[in-house]
Amino acid sequence: MLVFGGQVFDPEAHSRSLADVEIADGKILRVAPALPRDGYDAYVDASGLIVSPGLVDFHSHVFAGQDLAVDPDVWGPPSGTTTFVDAGSAGAHLFGAFRRSVIDSADSRVVAFLNISTIGTTSILLSGELRTLAYSDEDACVACVEANRDRIVGIKVRASGDVAGANGMEALRRARRVADRVSLPLMVHVGPKLPEVDDILDLLRPGDIMTHCCTGLGDNGLALEGELRPSALAAQERGIRFDVGHGMGGFDVTVARSMFAAGIVPDTISTDIHAYSTHTVLSFPSVLSKFLALGLPLEDVLSRATLGPARIVGLDREGVGTLRPGAPADLALLRLVAEPSAFVDTREHDFTGSERLETAVTVRGGAVVFDGRPTTPATSTDRNSS
Ligand SMILES: [Zn+2]
Repeated sequence: MLVFGGQVFDPEAHSRSLADVEIADGKILRVAPALPRDGYDAYVDASGLIVSPGLVDFHSHVFAGQDLAVDPDVWGPPSGTTTFVDAGSAGAHLFGAFRRSVIDSADSRVVAFLNISTIGTTSILLSGELRTLAYSDEDACVACVEANRDRIVGIKVRASGDVAGANGMEALRRARRVADRVSLPLMVHVGPKLPEVDDILDLLRPGDIMTHCCTGLGDNGLALEGELRPSALAAQERGIRFDVGHGMGGFDVTVARSMFAAGIVPDTISTDIHAYSTHTVLSFPSVLSKFLALGLPLEDVLSRATLGPARIVGLDREGVGTLRPGAPADLALLRLVAEPSAFVDTREHDFTGSERLETAVTVRGGAVVFDGRPTTPATSTDRNSS
């Protein structure tokens, strides 16, 4: 397959240039300008589009069949997402089911943070996997990691009052100990108190991740009424990573603006897509567009949704999030629409930007799995139309 005529974004070079992408056997063969346009089985006309590595969603819920989840193979293609990092949908007691039913069988690539609670995320209608501390079994968690090192990339704890009751700090300490025992990063979800966000940050180490970093829920975010907490800058300096995790309550544009004003840009931009957040997330490019509206350059936005997250979970070693020769042929062909665009955060604040991203075509493993371009059969062909 030849994907030709697009503005290719290479996150490793952090630059865009007009080039073609040659694909064979599900891998990228080469990226070069003006490749000959004959001899291929299929062509994708990327004229006017940005050709990015397939998007890597660092915070998602894809344990399909579980209350909270979406199906990665349904949600991914229209969003340009080809790799999902599940943020703790399963704990040790259900990870085997998650692995069999989704991780090993989905066409999308899926890796996971393991929930410190062995029951994983409960239904959003119950919201309380940490309310019974016996479920947060450290030995069970460690054993599950050791048996699934190839797909478990960290430990997750939802340390907020709505999930933990009064147990947030104790669950966080247990997750801390497990992460240390298995030498993997800890991802902590911050939300309504308790714990206080400052107490959470105190327990994080370099390489750990705070997700919902732009939340304003319960006055427990990194900024309060426009004032950044001193702990936010200190955490950034210590090497704590900030992940967006937009979801249904994770993105307050006023908090994001305070962070940006202080020079704190989230390390990863992710959706926190789940069954109850589809109406606020809309699509991965929709979430990315909000960061364009905040003034983040396109290259910085895309790198935080491709190579950035791939590196954190070690998938860059297989070429995920890159366009290297030999990398999986996963591509997101995105349209940058330059027109006034209206956005809303998860606290009903409206804001606007001058452009937005939309998915035009998604290629996964060398096959077109989504094509949202207007039908122009005279000028473009691909495996769907040929
Ligand atoms: Zn989540």
